[in-house]
Amino acid sequence: ASPETKSSEIDRLRSDRAVTPRSQDFNAWYLDVIASAELADYGPVRGTMVIRPYGYAIWEAIQDYLNVKFKETGHSNMYFPQFIPYSFIEKEASHVEGFSPELALVTVGGGKELEEKLVVRPTSETIVNHMFTQWIHSYRDLPLMINQWANVTRWEMRTKPFIRTLEFLWQEGHTAHATPEEAEKKAKQMIEIYTRFAFEQTAIPVIPGRKSKLETFAGADITYTIEAMMGDRKALQAGTSHNLGQNFSRAFGTQFADENGERQHVWQTSWAVSTRFVGGIIMTHGDDTGLMLPPKIAPIQVVIVPIWKKDTEKSGVLSAASSVKEALQTAGVRVKLDDTDQRTPGWKFNFWEMKGIPLRIEIGPRDVSGNSVVVSRRDIPGKAGKVFGISMEPSTLVAYVKEKLDEIQSSLLEKALSFRDSNIVDVNSYDELKDAISSGKWARGPWSASDADEQRVKEETGATIRCFPFEQTQGTKTCLMTGNPAEEVAIFAKSY
Ligand code: AMP
Repeated sequence: ASPETKSSEIDRLRSDRAVTPRSQDFNAWYLDVIASAELADYGPVRGTMVIRPYGYAIWEAIQDYLNVKFKETGHSNMYFPQFIPYSFIEKEASHVEGFSPELALVTVGGGKELEEKLVVRPTSETIVNHMFTQWIHSYRDLPLMINQWANVTRWEMRTKPFIRTLEFLWQEGHTAHATPEEAEKKAKQMIEIYTRFAFEQTAIPVIPGRKSKLETFAGADITYTIEAMMGDRKALQAGTSHNLGQNFSRAFGTQFADENGERQHVWQTSWAVSTRFVGGIIMTHGDDTGLMLPPKIAPIQVVIVPIWKKDTEKSGVLSAASSVKEALQTAGVRVKLDDTDQRTPGWKFNFWEMKGIPLRIEIGPRDVSGNSVVVSRRDIPGKAGKVFGISMEPSTLVAYVKEKLDEIQSSLLEKALSFRDSNIVDVNSYDELKDAISSGKWARGPWSASDADEQRVKEETGATIRCFPFEQTQGTKTCLMTGNPAEEVAIFAKSY
């Protein structure tokens, strides 16, 4: 820019250039949003990620909600070591087969070759069972229900910030029960908690269901999943809950004496949600301008931008802005007052829009004299989302802001729901499935074909069975592949 270019224009140019429009290149947009909104940065080791404060605050909002729900449903938090003896991983046959390609191993400690190599935990079923075996003796010790918040390491080949990283943060719940019915109930209960969380907090209309045998967790009898449709219509597995049956208890000898004194293996579950969810929020709601955060999960729900030209106006505007901030904060609204004079109001508007703040309040000299403010919605761009003359009187303003935040929350869910539903096609033949997938949509159709057929669909179309949704259509069904009777419809999609 030439020296005479106004600083406000330089500001605008800079912020305009920051984010590739989503409509132009979804992947470039996603990475730009993460960089510009300061959510995360790349770590020095390929596939690792530094989670920056703004991104971490979203993860904390996820934790805050789920942590309460886990405790309400009877789980206690605890912590297991990150290093697991290699022999543990080998004990459950399908577990070792599934996880071997992704393991990070420690072979040297303190400068000496270790006698037994160690696994950096990819998940904790093995070490949990090792300990459960020592803690569980009789039916009185059951159910045993714990959760841990931790990092895990999986040596992934294809990585993407938040969505799939070498090391990620998650919670992993682990439970042991006396009967298969109890374990099944628990696995279902947890996927319901994830489903509610996704709908009510993150405005992501996930589809809960059961994974196919091919897609079931290594070591589980049944895997339940929540599948979300991203803005590019790819599917994201956003959380899973496994019914482990007795697979790990048999491998580790985790037994209890029942009421008749007979020794039995416990029935188990495990379930997890990770930092991937942050990526899901970005890719569900973001638009050309950048991030768009659902109010319930937004670290900042309202940003106040004071506007003044003359120094004589400054103090009046700033003091009004502070009172507004105070009133909202007292009412429990997460609010930020951007009162720096290093940036123009126009720059600030763009910046906070890109950061996805649901509501913006502008206060200028004329608003101060009128005792009112201007409120703009992030989800309705431009003039249409702007309302003038909202009273500054605390109780009126607080009520207005809370109502708008609720409206934004439901509006984001509505929008995501209609996007999702308009991109799922009901199919009755393999040709129809191929058409749906090649046009970028999800295909839903009756399925009772073999694992080999499922594999063939994957190879020929790039789509996998995301789940057999809990919500099934009624009536008789004919498998889209074989023409044989089918009990359920499956959803096929390309996925992250
Ligand atoms: P799993 O133990 O494989 O069922 O994974 C549990 C959950 O963790 C999945 O549903 C994903 O949401 C998440 N997840 C799995 N692998 C990764 C990864 N590499 N990076 C981030 N999240 C992951």
